Amino acid sequence: MTTTSLAESRQLIADACRVLAARGLSDAHLGHVSLRVDAERLLVRCRGPQERGLAWTTADDVRLVDLDGQPGAEGELDGWSVPNELPLHTEILRTRPDVQAVVHAHPPEVVAADLAGVAIRPILGAFDIPGAKLAAGGVPVYPSSVLIRDRVRAAEMTAALGGRPVVLLRAHGLTSAASSVPTAVLQAVSVDTLARMSLTVLGAGGRLVDVPPDDLAELPDLGPGFNEGVAWRHELARLG
Ligand SMILES: [Zn+2]
Repeated sequence: MTTTSLAESRQLIADACRVLAARGLSDAHLGHVSLRVDAERLLVRCRGPQERGLAWTTADDVRLVDLDGQPGAEGELDGWSVPNELPLHTEILRTRPDVQAVVHAHPPEVVAADLAGVAIRPILGAFDIPGAKLAAGGVPVYPSSVLIRDRVRAAEMTAALGGRPVVLLRAHGLTSAASSVPTAVLQAVSVDTLARMSLTVLGAGGRLVDVPPDDLAELPDLGPGFNEGVAWRHELARLG
């Protein structure tokens, strides 16, 4: 990766952190985003001396590290520290060659819905097509509420994720894995929306019903140009 594209990727990850905060997916300072750079290294949102929380992430807060959390180049961790839960990023990157980007966040409604025994199901159709397809394929749950700070826990979580895009972490949050940073964030936003809508439906006295398989099959694939292009520009525009 060239210096220019590294700089662009640092900004992309910083923007992603700001989107997560703006969408209410991570209260305060909890959550991080990473992007694979090469076979041994990744960019990841770290904590610096002026840490103020995800909403105020800058490109400077995104540092180059290796898969063991050591500096990926000279000086990269001078003044910054990697997230405690870095292993959840690196274990997915080690075991899922299809994954380039990982998002970890603590969305309150997602955690609340899971604790209420409400699974993420395809209850919405054209309301959010990528979300409907994601939910229809299944959103597994890692049943432990611990901090994922070593490779043993990270391997358990990665096993729970399997080949899926998103895994819920009980009483903790979620981890989203994708081929790009925007997709990983948008997947997390979709799961958060499904959790919020599920709780709203139940709170209004309704019950949750999956949309019919025929409806799901008819939902068009709008393609990456729509999902990653328009949707991502929308998220950035919301930041103002
Ligand atoms: Zn966490």
